[in-house]
Amino acid sequence: MIVDKIKKRETNNVKHINPVDIPADKWIKCDGCKEIVYKEAVQENYNVCPNCGYHFRISSTKRIAQIIDEGTFEEFDLKIDTVNPLQMEEYLKKLTGLREKTGLDEAVKCGTGTINGEKVVICVMDGNFLMGSMGTVVGEKITYSIEKAIELKLPLIIFSVSGGARMQEGIMSLMQMAKTSSAIAKLDDAGLLFISVLTDPTYGGVTASFASLR
Ligand SMILES: [Zn+2]
Repeated sequence: MIVDKIKKRETNNVKHINPVDIPADKWIKCDGCKEIVYKEAVQENYNVCPNCGYHFRISSTKRIAQIIDEGTFEEFDLKIDTVNPLQMEEYLKKLTGLREKTGLDEAVKCGTGTINGEKVVICVMDGNFLMGSMGTVVGEKITYSIEKAIELKLPLIIFSVSGGARMQEGIMSLMQMAKTSSAIAKLDDAGLLFISVLTDPTYGGVTASFASLR
């Protein structure tokens, strides 16, 4: 009977837990189903809620660990200085603080690695760094990765998570849209594979450039 099925489904779900009994570090609230779920169960399930299938946001480091064969990721050694065209003192301070806090140098990690033994070029954006916004460094790193994929004749995978163009860099950010898009066009001309994975959230100038070009 339908009623029995519903009852059965309810008992299969993660049980409601009295908030008083919850050790803070072992449990996590799901933004999808609003249930309190066991953190370890979420992690074992590739950071997807075992209750409702909601995908938790994850860092670039974790994403790379999930996708790339262990020990094969080699980050491109790129030292690109951040530009500050609007002369915002606060912007540079904020970047310094974020670098210390997150251990990231910018909002994207790019490099090569293998997936089940197949070599790829991979870029993974990170929402913990100014919501993955695209400024000159992000644009340059992505463009470099695209060019590297063409040079090495490798497939390219980009995981996007971005609030869009980085407003602190004004028009310089918007120029990254044209730059990355034209690089993707060259990759397409070379007949190479490009997989664009849009993760939560992907907005603005990133959606309007490389993330939507396939
Ligand atoms: Zn859930």
